Amino acid sequence: MAACPGIYKLSLMRDGALARIRVPGGVLTSDQARTVADVSHTHGSGIIDLTNRANLQLRGLHEHNGSRVAKKLLEAGLLCENPDVDRLRNITSSPLAGLDPTEIINVLPHAEAIDRVIQSTPATSTLSPKFSIVLDGGGRGSLRKIAHDIGFFARATHEGPVFELSLADTTTGHAIAPSDVAEFVSITLSMINVRQCGRMRDMLQNCNAHTFIGSICHASGIAAVTTPHIADQRPAHIELGHHMGNETSTNWLTVGLPLSRISADQLAQLANMSDTATGTLRLTPWQSIVLPATSVDHAQDAATRGFDIENRTVQVIACTGASGCERTCAETKVDAETLLSGFHDLPTRTDGAAWTIHLSGCPRGCAMPGKSDILALAQPESANYALHAGSRPSTANASIPHRANTAPQDLASAIRDLIATSA
Ligand code: SF4
Repeated sequence: MAACPGIYKLSLMRDGALARIRVPGGVLTSDQARTVADVSHTHGSGIIDLTNRANLQLRGLHEHNGSRVAKKLLEAGLLCENPDVDRLRNITSSPLAGLDPTEIINVLPHAEAIDRVIQSTPATSTLSPKFSIVLDGGGRGSLRKIAHDIGFFARATHEGPVFELSLADTTTGHAIAPSDVAEFVSITLSMINVRQCGRMRDMLQNCNAHTFIGSICHASGIAAVTTPHIADQRPAHIELGHHMGNETSTNWLTVGLPLSRISADQLAQLANMSDTATGTLRLTPWQSIVLPATSVDHAQDAATRGFDIENRTVQVIACTGASGCERTCAETKVDAETLLSGFHDLPTRTDGAAWTIHLSGCPRGCAMPGKSDILALAQPESANYALHAGSRPSTANASIPHRANTAPQDLASAIRDLIATSA
């Protein structure tokens, strides 16, 4: 699989060309959502994937239609004119920003400010298209597990709310004022570019995080304070269904998208539903879409249309598999669909969260690089899987699997056994 496809750089897959639409902050207008649905219908397979960074991927595009797709998306405000910049707009933020009564900081204005910084940064050619920024407002749905180069995590202090800084997935013990976020990103991008680094981890090979933050503060006048790290106890997901904010305008509905996939028709339906509310949709990194300012009637409407609005005891995650990617012989998506349809009576986890089961076609782990409760990793040149507990795809092969060489038709029972021993 080619790394990080964009609109300007389609990746050719087995099921056609693939284009990733970056959606900074995860916010789409209903018109933009309808444009995506229309483009998918007209130029692609009518299948759209939601990524684990809350971006969208158009599947099955005709290879030669890239410029037509780009034109439509550009007109809809879903693309930057500069390809070198568009690939860098990887900003994942709390999808309930401004709605969730438990949040500490509304991160949406900060996501917009960071996007403006990225779009106006003149020299970004050395940065990797995987360079990503996470903005977590401190409310429902922890973004700690989302891999990031720069992470801002809201914390309440006696002096007011601050953002704890995390660099290259590692907390630094420093925090800055919310008003300094955009400046921090701007100076960071400049410094990384001057040093010809692609990712934050490259930068931190030459200096530690403390020194790096010190030099940013020195260059900008930003004041960073030290903060003791506090373990994040929040679940890494949000609940499906209708939820109450502090007022009607901040109620919301979360609909589930099993296996992170939505058809063009379904996306258009959600866009039309949102027109009777705020006319916006929020993409989440957790197989779901949020419609702000919706009522119980919207929830019933969504359920009638076949959307998931009740939480499941299991979340199955799968990469595209053999029909879309040449790196595997396993049909991970198809096998995951079969699994999902049979898992209605699993015991709940002791912490009430859903079991995460990840079917990965290879150690790259495109659908979920981090740990899952159970990882089914396809074996090389085989449609069978090795089962691991609490592993990540990139390192699983270094350990002995709980069960090797499991055929797709045996996955459900093998996973049930594994869950029974760990429940
Ligand atoms: S994880 Fe899946 S989609 Fe990604 S490269 Fe491997 S087989 Fe392909």
